[in-house]
Amino acid sequence: MSGPNTDYDPVEVSTLKPDEVDAARDAALAAIADAADLEALKQVRIDHTGDRSPLALANREIGALPPQARKEAGQRVGQARGAVSKALAERQAVLEAEHEERMLVEETVDVTLPTDRVPAGARHPLTTGSELIADIFVAMGWEVAEGPVIEAEWLNFDALNLGPDHPARTMQDTFWTDPADDAMVLRTHTSPVQARTMLTRTPPIYVVCPGRVFRTDEYDATHSPVFHQVEGLAIDEGISMAHLKGTLDHFATAMFGEGITTRFRPSYFPFTEPSAEVDLVCFVCRGAQEIDGVTCRTCRGEGWIEWGGCGVVNPRVLRACGVDSDRYSGFAFGMGIDRTLMFRHSIADLRDLFEGDVRFTTAFGSDL
Ligand SMILES: [Zn+2]
Repeated sequence: MSGPNTDYDPVEVSTLKPDEVDAARDAALAAIADAADLEALKQVRIDHTGDRSPLALANREIGALPPQARKEAGQRVGQARGAVSKALAERQAVLEAEHEERMLVEETVDVTLPTDRVPAGARHPLTTGSELIADIFVAMGWEVAEGPVIEAEWLNFDALNLGPDHPARTMQDTFWTDPADDAMVLRTHTSPVQARTMLTRTPPIYVVCPGRVFRTDEYDATHSPVFHQVEGLAIDEGISMAHLKGTLDHFATAMFGEGITTRFRPSYFPFTEPSAEVDLVCFVCRGAQEIDGVTCRTCRGEGWIEWGGCGVVNPRVLRACGVDSDRYSGFAFGMGIDRTLMFRHSIADLRDLFEGDVRFTTAFGSDL
């Protein structure tokens, strides 16, 4: 055995030869510069800074060196490792930036490219609109009622206090079915659904009836022989005009937004007494009649928009439908769904709602 090794013997610690440390460093730097992508750089990192890399081995051997050699070797190896770490970090940043840029380009979607997918349809605004209206009332505990579109003359007219000679029968320009002896009509309003409900149910009754109705109107931008109505009927003890007003105010607000309420104007309908026309606060100018000094076009400067008709159910109608008019009273209202939607969506031509042009329907998407 020889004595303690006090001399630096470069042969025994070959990896610490200055040339070899420099060579290991240069090899690492060259490999880093050559790494073409992040995956390659990962391998370079393992090869040149991992536990078995020349510089790591050299670093471990410093402790075995004689004290007088440690400082110089430590500096050299430390500088080499520092240079490699710095180069790795820089190359990493460059490659990451390149990767990100490439992904942005590769993952770009050209939304203008034509597609061969079958276009998805959209629900018709009349359907979604009717459902929205029904939802507003169902949320208040009402029920939705429906009836046939080919209706008995008696239910369409007589039950609703429109006697055989009543002018409304001609005013309403009815479509009659053949043969005339059957006394059947295409319903001119959704009111027969109310009559049917009263005949088959006992109060309290709270129903809303959306549906298609028919009159011999011209077909133009504001008229159609087919259109849609929604009617509501409430029959209970102690029902008054106040309940009617509150219900319609809520309906208007739910449909057109906060602050949109209603006003009543005296009117006449055979099936209600008293009767009123319902107007909405103009939801465009919000009753101000003008916008920035220009007369509101939606309400033509009125501040109000005609919406429908309503009233307290005539006791004669209650009696005709088997309801005890001494105990019960009720209110009814009706308005055009088409007209309501035209307001809500600024639809200028009623015919757009009926002509089935998919470009019109899809503009509404799946929402109302
Ligand atoms: Zn207005």
